[in-house]
Amino acid sequence: MIRKFITRVSKALGRRKPLSHEPAIIPHQQHGVRREHLSGAARRVCGALQEKGYKAFVVGGAVRDLLIGEHPKDYDIATDATPEQVRSVFRRARIIGRRFQIVHVMMGAETLEVTTFRGALAHDAKKDEHGRVLHDNVFGSQAEDAARRDFTVNALYYDPASETIVDYHHGVADLKQKTLRMIGEPRARYREDPVRMLRAVRLAAKLGLSIDPEAARPIREMAPLLENVPAARLFDEMLKLLTSGHAVNCLRQLRDAGLHHGLLPLLDVILEQPLGERFVMLALDNTDRRVRAGKSISPGFLFATLLWHEVLAQWERIKQNGERPIPALFIAMDEVLDTQAEKLAITRRVAADIKDIWALQPRFEARAGRKPYALLEHQRFRAGYDFLLLRAESGEIAKEVADWWTRFSEAEGEDRAALLIPETGEKKKRRRRRKPAGPRGDAPAAE
Ligand code: ATP
Ligand code: MG
Repeated sequence: MIRKFITRVSKALGRRKPLSHEPAIIPHQQHGVRREHLSGAARRVCGALQEKGYKAFVVGGAVRDLLIGEHPKDYDIATDATPEQVRSVFRRARIIGRRFQIVHVMMGAETLEVTTFRGALAHDAKKDEHGRVLHDNVFGSQAEDAARRDFTVNALYYDPASETIVDYHHGVADLKQKTLRMIGEPRARYREDPVRMLRAVRLAAKLGLSIDPEAARPIREMAPLLENVPAARLFDEMLKLLTSGHAVNCLRQLRDAGLHHGLLPLLDVILEQPLGERFVMLALDNTDRRVRAGKSISPGFLFATLLWHEVLAQWERIKQNGERPIPALFIAMDEVLDTQAEKLAITRRVAADIKDIWALQPRFEARAGRKPYALLEHQRFRAGYDFLLLRAESGEIAKEVADWWTRFSEAEGEDRAALLIPETGEKKKRRRRRKPAGPRGDAPAAE
């Protein structure tokens, strides 16, 4: 026991050894990444900057992904040229001023993010009352830029000209050992930017790394700091997490780390209902498989699944209070989205997609007359139908309903008509009274 403790302490001390400012320059014979592995645009952007005498490297996630044989999602370039200088090198480039000034360079179909090396964080950098850094756009050296990055595996610089990797923080070794290690003191780094806690979980899940205990330990206690992060940034990060192709694993780890509470305020409640948990996990598993197969996924569909069981609960409550089913559903939808909007800046477009999918659900109940035909023609039929399949698979509704819609949508002509469930005489009479003009004027059930 004591021996174990001593080993642990000495290991921790060993890690804290001050890192020399001289980076390791690792040749391709050792790391294996060739310039042909980069996208053409990444090579061209680095080349153009270097031709003008600037330094330029591929940095961050792309280098990390290439090292483990993954296909980079996008490319970030780091340079010693200022944003203005970068812009002047390219025909299609614009400076975007977010928290840090970045230049978007459009090259063919690709957009690359080019950032100027960032300087060390000034002592008087503007922070909020919890220590979150609000502004910093000071330029600096490559070494300072490396120290400002979050994890050692994200602080690797690849030079396409020499095919070497510049490694200031033993990132290549950490990646080999499958460790996600924070650069600097984890508590201080989380305080500066609490989103790093989410990044830790996401990157660990996505890359199959384990979070170094020193970086993992403070997360539970510091999780509440996420409440001060602007909603739009949380939404971006959640979206990255949920569309990483490893959402199920990420969510499990978020729960283990106690991080899910502030993010989707209702998610913990949902995950505690067996049916809700099953539904969410099925949906995420589905999404993961789509992402890994290189298919597109829609944020609207994703959030619609995450929040559906909350809608169901509110819908039920409002109906119990005497409201009619369809108006009750619409009230429930607005309530759920409003609650979420406070924490997650769900954009208006995504919110509209979510509502479309939810509003279609009661319409799948109609399997007689012309209504099923009208639903097939609906612009969002496919999304609504996919959602229906998940509901059936999770046990929320009868499988038979989903199977019927599968058969109905696949059949044609008379075969399709034969599937319709005969209307009862009573219903027919009511319909005729309501719409003397004939069956064409079907009003959608959910409007
Ligand atoms: P992926 O693109 O696969 O999601 P990534 O690591 O490339 O992962 P980006 O958000 O594209 O993530 O960031 C690019 C790089 O910028 C990171 O690799 C890291 O070096 C740095 N970075 C991003 N976010 C932070 C942060 N919150 N704190 C410090 N450095 C960061
Ligand atoms: Mg990236």
